[in-house]
Amino acid sequence: MTDVTISTRPTVVIVGAGFGGLRAARALRRAPVDVVMLDRHNYHLFQPLLYQVATAGLEPEQIAKPVRAILRRQRNFEFRMAEVTGLDPAARRLATADGPVAYDHLILAVGGETNYFGLENVPRHGFGLKDVPDAIRIRNHVLHQFERAMLEPNAERRRALLTFVVVGGGPTGVEMAGALSELIRLVLVKDYPRLNIKDVRVLLLEATDRLLGPMPPRLREAAAETLWRKHVEVRFGAAVADYDGARVLLKGDEVIPARTLIWAAGAKAVSLTARLGLPTGRQGRVPVEPTLRVPGYPEIYVIGDAAYLEADGEPLPMMAPVALQMADTAVTWVVWLVVHIIQLIGFRNKLFVLLNWAWDYFFFERAARLITTMD
Ligand SMILES: Cc1cc2nc3c(=O)[nH]c(=O)nc-3n(C[C@H](O)[C@H](O)[C@H](O)COP(=O)(O)OP(=O)(O)OC[C@H]3O[C@@H](n4cnc5c(N)ncnc54)[C@H](O)[C@@H]3O)c2cc1C
Repeated sequence: MTDVTISTRPTVVIVGAGFGGLRAARALRRAPVDVVMLDRHNYHLFQPLLYQVATAGLEPEQIAKPVRAILRRQRNFEFRMAEVTGLDPAARRLATADGPVAYDHLILAVGGETNYFGLENVPRHGFGLKDVPDAIRIRNHVLHQFERAMLEPNAERRRALLTFVVVGGGPTGVEMAGALSELIRLVLVKDYPRLNIKDVRVLLLEATDRLLGPMPPRLREAAAETLWRKHVEVRFGAAVADYDGARVLLKGDEVIPARTLIWAAGAKAVSLTARLGLPTGRQGRVPVEPTLRVPGYPEIYVIGDAAYLEADGEPLPMMAPVALQMADTAVTWVVWLVVHIIQLIGFRNKLFVLLNWAWDYFFFERAARLITTMD
């Protein structure tokens, strides 16, 4: 077993070096704890700019940075590149591909993945956009379609090679469709002078009747207008039913011949959440209390895309600012607990306080109802 407890200080293990995980690690830099961060990658990825990599605007290293480089000055910090595969809450141990890792407090910031809503053929033949390899695959594929189109004598097949379908009218789909059209109309037309630009189509398919659902109408209209100017064909009420790599089948049986489908229509928590033995709710997210603790597991916090918490009756969105704020909250709680326990003198005292605390917390009790003025 990999023993991470190298000092008498409590060990806070953070899983995930995304927005939430990094923020939590930084916030613990002066806390009397040892911080161990685990991630399956050795880098932090700025996901909001992935579409720029997919459309050849940026190189991957411009939106990803090694975690060790970001936090190298933090003295109580240690990074381990490891994939977490399971959790044993009773033993306070994580299972990883490289052996178990023990923790005193655990912050799960494992993020999300693409949600294909059970359309099995879409990930098989189309593209998601969640990580660097996804973005590079899209970039290679798009450029490849142009090379193939130049060699394709059949007009119908050439048009299918040059039809790019983006699914989902949320922020990612809107950005992706706009940037793809810009790449084609501003850059690729120069590389392919024999290309007939009329053969090229960029479609944005949205199942509802609006783009950027939760945003104010003024911004939604501005986005639609901008896409129209960029020659993106926006189709409302267009729900994808299947895709075989050559034809997009819409509900209602319309078929769009297209060799490229980019899916930006949904997100859910990473599938790991289903393997941790913790309860999961909508989108596979782990329901948490307002303190971001998992009910019944006072030493486990879940933050960011993997956490399910409602505000004003609505789930908090899977967005970077939410992950950052959740990290601040969870850390505050960890530090509060650790500092108070550490300041008590004597092991027995610490243990009693911890037990009392846990009891009061779960049974909504407050033991200290004494009037203690000395008058
Ligand atoms: C294409 C795209 C565009 C986006 N655009 C925006 C935007 O414009 N604005 C906005 O606010 N939000 C945007 N988002 C959403 C935003 O990126 C997420 O809400 C945010 O990254 C969530 O932060 P997080 O810390 O919960 O998870 P993440 O940032 O996803 O980090 C999770 C980390 O956990 C690691 N991990 C996962 N599973 C394991 C495992 N089993 N073992 C070890 N490590 C693991 C991952 O490698 C990753 O580093 C976008 C997302 C995408 C995909």
